[in-house]
Amino acid sequence: MTDSAYRDDRAHVFHSWSAQRALTPTVLAGGEGSWFWDGEGRRYLDFSSQLVNLNLGHQHPRVVAAIQEQAAKLCTVAPTFANDARSEAARLIAEVAPGDLSHVFFTNGGTEAVEHALRMARLTTGRHKILSAYRSYHGATAGAITLTGDPRRWGSEPSIPGVVRFFGPYPYRSAFHATTVREECDRALEHLEQVFTLEGPHTVAAVILETVVGTNGILVPPDGYLAGVRDLCDRYGALLICDEVMSGFGRCGEWFAADRWGVVPDLITFAKGVNSGYVPLGGVVLGPRVYEAFAERPYPGGLTYSGHPLACAAAVATIGAMRDEGVLERVRDLGSTLIGPRLAEIAARHPSVGDVRGLGFFWAIELVRDRDTREMLVPYNAAGADAAPMAELVAACKERGLWPFTHFNRVHVVPPCVTSEADLDTGLDILDEVLTLADRHYTGKEA
Ligand code: PMP
Repeated sequence: MTDSAYRDDRAHVFHSWSAQRALTPTVLAGGEGSWFWDGEGRRYLDFSSQLVNLNLGHQHPRVVAAIQEQAAKLCTVAPTFANDARSEAARLIAEVAPGDLSHVFFTNGGTEAVEHALRMARLTTGRHKILSAYRSYHGATAGAITLTGDPRRWGSEPSIPGVVRFFGPYPYRSAFHATTVREECDRALEHLEQVFTLEGPHTVAAVILETVVGTNGILVPPDGYLAGVRDLCDRYGALLICDEVMSGFGRCGEWFAADRWGVVPDLITFAKGVNSGYVPLGGVVLGPRVYEAFAERPYPGGLTYSGHPLACAAAVATIGAMRDEGVLERVRDLGSTLIGPRLAEIAARHPSVGDVRGLGFFWAIELVRDRDTREMLVPYNAAGADAAPMAELVAACKERGLWPFTHFNRVHVVPPCVTSEADLDTGLDILDEVLTLADRHYTGKEA
């Protein structure tokens, strides 16, 4: 079974974002909670939550049962009908959404959610430009990959017109030469205002940002930044789109990270954690301004599987389980009493750790060759031999039974939100141990 899964994969599966020939994918045979195992029975503690979506861990009984019950009842329904699973999922998502956000447009994942948010913003405002951050990922189709700031967009260029990029706050590598977090926040807002001014505010439909930047480094915005962006959008009549595909549904200890700063966006995109990734689901939550734009004229967009019943049943069960099990509270609590303090302590002992940052179950360790110059352990967008120090670190984690999430010169600590304290300690112990490999590169004494 394992051999044939591997053989058939190599013969017939074309993988995402990869050069195909050299791939050696691990066959994932099963999982429970924060652990999964391969075909040979090797067990891994999942500090990546698969793709930062497995917020409730593998095989949560309530979610599995909900999918099974829905499958026995009704497996598919066209989007034009109303249906129990979709209606209840929409009601629950509207209930946990901030402010007056009241309606949900369902998609099959985060990319489509962003694509539709982009279209909604342009049609609602009658303007065409969208401002998006350099350090961002928003998805893989034409519009979403253009909004993406990171190198994944390069291979798709030239892409859709009308996207203008700005720098968001990143105190550790400030684009504004700021020396304090406060200064970083103020200068980032001044910079964004200049972008508005120079682009012509009347041409800007929306600002899109990841409320807490995910793949590009777990950048938690300074207090005041999100509210400042909201003010600029209001001043210039643009919509604020918060992409919460990764930061939403528990990851930051809130339903939506925007709640932490009390900011109400016009549109929120979500996916991943909404049903812990058990069945593909995403969507856009929207408020009155966008709703009213399409109250009398048709919204020109749709998807055959919008609000698929199996996916929505899984979302209803996920939100119910998160509420009943106090998942948000535990994420907030363990993020600030266990993960944060342990990472700070690890950072103090490892010279290769330049910065640790995060909140909830959403943390990054940024690795450097030199703490003073902050030279990255591997260069931006490193591949092949250039990326070897990170590959070595990943291999060392896997040998010790830890499945890490890494990106460029960073290790992200993003375990399922239900991971036990003992397992969090185990994973952090392993990271602590393997970071000595990075230290060796730091001191220039690598073997
Ligand atoms: N936005 C953000 C912030 C994401 O992290 C991702 C996926 N990593 C996406 C959009 C795209 O979502 P999907 O892969 O489900 O299409």
